[in-house]
Amino acid sequence: MKVMKFGGTSVGSPERMKSVSKLITSSGEPVVIVLSAMSGTTNSLVEISNYLYRKNPEGANEVINRLEQKYMSHVEDLYSTEKWKKETRSFLREEFNYLRSFTKDLFTSFEEKSIVAQGEIMSTNMVVNYLKECGVDAELLSALDFMRTDKNGEPDTSYIKEKLTALLEEVKGKQIYITQGFICRNAYGEIDNLQRGGSDYTASLIGAAINAEEIQIWTDIDGMHNNDPRIVDGTEAVRQLHFEEAAELAYFGAKILHPTCIQPAKYAGIPVRLLNTMEPEAQGTIIDNVTLRGKIKAVAAKDNITAIKIKSSRMLLATGFLRKVFEIFESYQTAIDMVATSEVGVSMSIDNDTHLAEIVDELKKYGTVTVDTDMCIVCVVGDLDWSNVGFETLATDALKNIPVRMISYGGSNYNISFLIRESDKKAALQSLSDTLFK
Ligand code: ADP
Ligand code: ASP
Ligand code: MG
Repeated sequence: MKVMKFGGTSVGSPERMKSVSKLITSSGEPVVIVLSAMSGTTNSLVEISNYLYRKNPEGANEVINRLEQKYMSHVEDLYSTEKWKKETRSFLREEFNYLRSFTKDLFTSFEEKSIVAQGEIMSTNMVVNYLKECGVDAELLSALDFMRTDKNGEPDTSYIKEKLTALLEEVKGKQIYITQGFICRNAYGEIDNLQRGGSDYTASLIGAAINAEEIQIWTDIDGMHNNDPRIVDGTEAVRQLHFEEAAELAYFGAKILHPTCIQPAKYAGIPVRLLNTMEPEAQGTIIDNVTLRGKIKAVAAKDNITAIKIKSSRMLLATGFLRKVFEIFESYQTAIDMVATSEVGVSMSIDNDTHLAEIVDELKKYGTVTVDTDMCIVCVVGDLDWSNVGFETLATDALKNIPVRMISYGGSNYNISFLIRESDKKAALQSLSDTLFK
């Protein structure tokens, strides 16, 4: 079986839902379909939650009413028979009344997670009803019945595999199985999610669980581009990426993929294909185990980075020093992205500054600490094995007019990263494109 995931824009209007339905029925073979919420819906649900956190039920109700009107008008455009219009209207009415029920009670992150889960619940029900109206044998599987995280918040892969296999066995013989991306239950059975953009992760976890032949991520662009198309003009689709290259790009800011979604596919050895719903014939990008020797593939950038430097006159890099420094970050559950060391100091970068003040306070016991905020990691990805000559020179040459705070090379065979000011990002990305890809 193949897994096909369609993102928010791909199911963003009744027209798009119809195109997606045509696409998934045309393949002829059984498929598992993962859907996101209609574009904009998760943001609206977050907005509702924010009003409720601030004890403003009027604000929340206003957004709920607006959203309900929009969905009810979609019903008119999506279905052609009164039977399915009625069925879907009554489903949506219950959904919106459920959202309204939260405007009365105490509001915590538990309620917020139940609210943001409704986007995917609505889109999957709407598409399944549409397929049924078209006479397609489609089965809706609730992700809340098999997608689960463990006590560390990581996907519980053996539970997912066991549950999903059993569910598919119960309803075997269908042409199309549809489920929600993004949503799950946590180790305590409560509704939870896989973080924003997490539908890609759902698709990859399902692909690994059922040992799929391929995982397809359908979105609004023809594959992974060689630079961020939101920032640089004239970017081009990359035809092939190694799993590690795709994982680096996703982690370092290529929004087309959720940061962790490559991992399950990589471990299971299942190819991932990125495709464009608006242009289904386009080749897209294939992500697999093949390394194209001596090729630089793409550049990505990750914002909101903080750099921390600790400097001491004592023998800093004596045995055990780095362990002490890293333990401070670990005790505040703060992951380090980049590291650079010298005889007298060590620099690190983090993307989560929730506990920055506490971390800095503890680091001060060991030396002088400096912090630079509003930084950005620019990551150049490709076959950057150390035995290849000349590639790191190309990348550094492209940044010759940009102040570089840190460089990281040699951590993997696939990347070289630069820490620069966020305000220099656009110029850096443009210059890298001009140097590496023209
Ligand atoms: P979906 O809603 O389908 O999950 P996303 O908005 O999450 O779609 O991801 C697709 C978007 O990712 C594209 O529209 C594009 O603007 C953005 N993007 C950022 N970097 C890249 C890149 N290197 N290649 C392709 N798209 C990228
Ligand atoms: N709907 C969720 C979001 O907007 C998940 C996803 O689209 O991947 O973040
Ligand atoms: Mg996405």
